Amino acid sequence: MPRKKKELVCPRCGSKNIEVIKTWQLVAPLPDKKGRITITVMGSLKCKDCGYKWRGVVSKLKVGGSSVEVEGSKGKKVLGGEEEEERRVKEIVIDIDDLD
Ligand SMILES: [Zn+2]
Repeated sequence: MPRKKKELVCPRCGSKNIEVIKTWQLVAPLPDKKGRITITVMGSLKCKDCGYKWRGVVSKLKVGGSSVEVEGSKGKKVLGGEEEEERRVKEIVIDIDDLD
């Protein structure tokens, strides 16, 4: 199991004592290959130790498709990752002779 730690760290003093003042979301205009839209949660961040303020990515969400991926401070989670179902294509056959 790969451990991905994505903790917020102050770029100035390296402290992890970070306060999220404000967040907002950026939605990707185009879906990825799996038809999912990436929502990036941006935040106004402040270091409680040295008072440095900056803006950074708080987490990323991928929505759509068959699962939701949450990328945040606790690593990557896949919620409701169902196996992809084969989608049945309904065939509509029109018999031209009937239209006569
Ligand atoms: Zn700091």
